[in-house]
Amino acid sequence: MLAALAFLFGLAIGSFLNVCIARLPAGESVVRPGSRCPACRTPIRWFDNIPVLSYLLLGGRCRQCRSPISVRYPLVELATGVLFAATVSWLPPEPVLLGKALLFTALLVVLFGTDYDVQRLPDVITLPGIAAGIVLSAATPPGLFDAIMGTAAGALVLLFVRWGWKRMTGVDGMGLGDVKMLAMIGAFLGWRQVGVVLFLASLAGALVGLLLAAGGRRSLQTRLPFGTFLAAAAWGALLVGDNLLDWYLSLYP
Ligand SMILES: [Zn+2]
Repeated sequence: MLAALAFLFGLAIGSFLNVCIARLPAGESVVRPGSRCPACRTPIRWFDNIPVLSYLLLGGRCRQCRSPISVRYPLVELATGVLFAATVSWLPPEPVLLGKALLFTALLVVLFGTDYDVQRLPDVITLPGIAAGIVLSAATPPGLFDAIMGTAAGALVLLFVRWGWKRMTGVDGMGLGDVKMLAMIGAFLGWRQVGVVLFLASLAGALVGLLLAAGGRRSLQTRLPFGTFLAAAAWGALLVGDNLLDWYLSLYP
């Protein structure tokens, strides 16, 4: 029941996250103007803006000009619905904890989208995200101290990687957006999870990079948007990070 409600809530939030992904990297308002068809600029009316359903009813085309609507929009809505439902099903049913987890999930969806689209991780998401993560962590696990330590650890570890990379190769291999994003992840999940997230993200990035290179889609030199892997790894750590860490530590009694 709670999962079904979270799914519907996620669909609606996903619709708003689509707007954030499209507008925030360009510094545009997410409130005004209302959504318009990118082809004919006709404002989209509320009954054509129902998550997923409107896309299906319209056959994936604008009502006015019949130009195709990107399948991205219903996909982001559906993905947010599924992630929200999985989050409330997995985590203990405590209101503040779930609210924090859903906010974190929504921020990760936006960062995934903007990094995938334009290789940017906007400050207007990461910096308020750090503040929200620290404040909400004061009332829920991992606690205020762990959250502040997590913010510092997330920023410092990637600043160090960035500095080392530049020293070795002479080029900037990583943007400061990644640094602020891992700081935000540390604020939400605490310092213990920073290493877990970095490990999972690097592993996923290496695997995807190798798969794309093997498929002839990209060369090994192609830069992959690391923020997309950080987002996926952070959501995984939100759900099973503590289990992973316990298991890993049990290997070295
Ligand atoms: Zn149109």
